[in-house]
Amino acid sequence: QQDWEARFRLPHLTDIFPDAPPIPSTFCLKMRTSIDRDFPGHYSSYEDWHGYINNNDRVLLKTIYYSSPTSAGAECIDPDCTWVEQWVHRAGPREKIYYKPEEVKAAIVTCGGLCPGLNDVIRQIVITLEIYGVKNIVGIPFGYRGFSDKELTEVPLSRKVVQNIHLSGGSLLGVSRGGPAVSDIVDSLEERGINVLFVLGGNGTHAGANAIHHECCKRRLKVSVIGVPKTIDNDILLMDKTFGFDTAVEEAQRAINSAYIEAHSAYHGIGVVKLMGRSSGFIAMQASLSSGQVDICLIPEVPFNFHGPHGVLSHLKFLLETKGSAVVCVAEGAGQNLLQKTNATDASGNVVLGDIGVYIQQEIKKYFKEIGIHADVKYIDPTYMIRAIRANASDGILCTVLGQNAVHGAFAGYSGITVGVCNTHYAYFPIPEVISHPRLVDPNSRMWHRCLTSTGKLWLPMLCLNYCVLLELIVSP
Ligand code: ATP
Ligand code: MG
Repeated sequence: QQDWEARFRLPHLTDIFPDAPPIPSTFCLKMRTSIDRDFPGHYSSYEDWHGYINNNDRVLLKTIYYSSPTSAGAECIDPDCTWVEQWVHRAGPREKIYYKPEEVKAAIVTCGGLCPGLNDVIRQIVITLEIYGVKNIVGIPFGYRGFSDKELTEVPLSRKVVQNIHLSGGSLLGVSRGGPAVSDIVDSLEERGINVLFVLGGNGTHAGANAIHHECCKRRLKVSVIGVPKTIDNDILLMDKTFGFDTAVEEAQRAINSAYIEAHSAYHGIGVVKLMGRSSGFIAMQASLSSGQVDICLIPEVPFNFHGPHGVLSHLKFLLETKGSAVVCVAEGAGQNLLQKTNATDASGNVVLGDIGVYIQQEIKKYFKEIGIHADVKYIDPTYMIRAIRANASDGILCTVLGQNAVHGAFAGYSGITVGVCNTHYAYFPIPEVISHPRLVDPNSRMWHRCLTSTGKLWLPMLCLNYCVLLELIVSP
């Protein structure tokens, strides 16, 4: 049984809490993230917050039923229990706060790749900190690297500095991969007197944030480490949506539309669009669905053949013969088994993927040349254009709420948590649970099947079975 208090309460307050009340026998918590006791804050919060969040407010993730108490196993506290509920804490301002605002030195760091909305989150964190009364706010330049590189100095942040940064994409602070060891980062936090650290990044950054939290606990430092998940791929577990994803889909749709127009305007035109999605095909799926112009959607979760009678190439031939043009949308992590492995890794240790977009383009050209059919292939990779744009309205709102709740989480006295939206409620999540593996498109889900039915607008009624369904029938037993 994991206890939120034991895991995420800042260490020096451990002794002042009364014992938790017994857990009700009607249910038990797998991820017991409730605080069943009084809040640890000492100081009065900003009194104009619109309604404080009670510490017992939780958001239900899901209820899991087991056939017997034995199969429910260690996740149950009560031996007779056959069902388990997963809850997380509701995010928001608390009536009592953990830090005196004038004693806070807050730092913000952005790591990994770019994602629309980073500036919106930075801006909102700074503004909310100022509302709490924090005067000492700094940005760490160029990711975790900024903690160790002596040539990089911290950037003082205030409402004035961040007022208009959300009007452009990228990150005011810069991003990077790789960087110093966790102990060096914590040394640097101690030297700089930082006691609240906001970490904006993906799974790697969050693994780092979790390690920093543990190192701070080990050294018994009063430091809150709060994450805000930044993943354009929307591949963080348990969360409805991560910021930047909506913007990415909207922009990806534009690229698909351009590919469609190029393909449609050429004799035997084929448009190939490569989109983000290292292990999860959410962007490719949603952009294909929303554009309605994609004939073949390839994602990492669904294996496919490229050559052979039921492969992508022979279906493209069929599309050219029947429709006259075709659009292929491929996620960057799809079909990696078709490419030569390089074993190369980036500065953060992530495997460098082979370029499936280029492979598809070359193979299509080669195939149609060999069979003597004219094909005009146009390849679009909008990745860097999409990552660098500013957040759209819906992501702007998401970033604003996430930024505010990140600050509330720090002032609530938590550390080692990250903030997200779950079942439409904003909540705090334990970091390890959300990064244990990437969230994937379920090939049996209704959404994927909606995507399948939206592809392949074939002319011949007899052949109206879309290609993705065909592929799936072929590759999965
Ligand atoms: P993106 O989604 O853009 O890839 P990311 O956060 O996953 O974002 P990474 O480059 O993997 O990006 O990691 C960002 C930072 O986190 C790097 O500075 C890296 O050194 C650090 N990091 C990655 N994994 C770990 C880990 N397991 N422990 C500590 N730090 C890590
Ligand atoms: Mg990553």
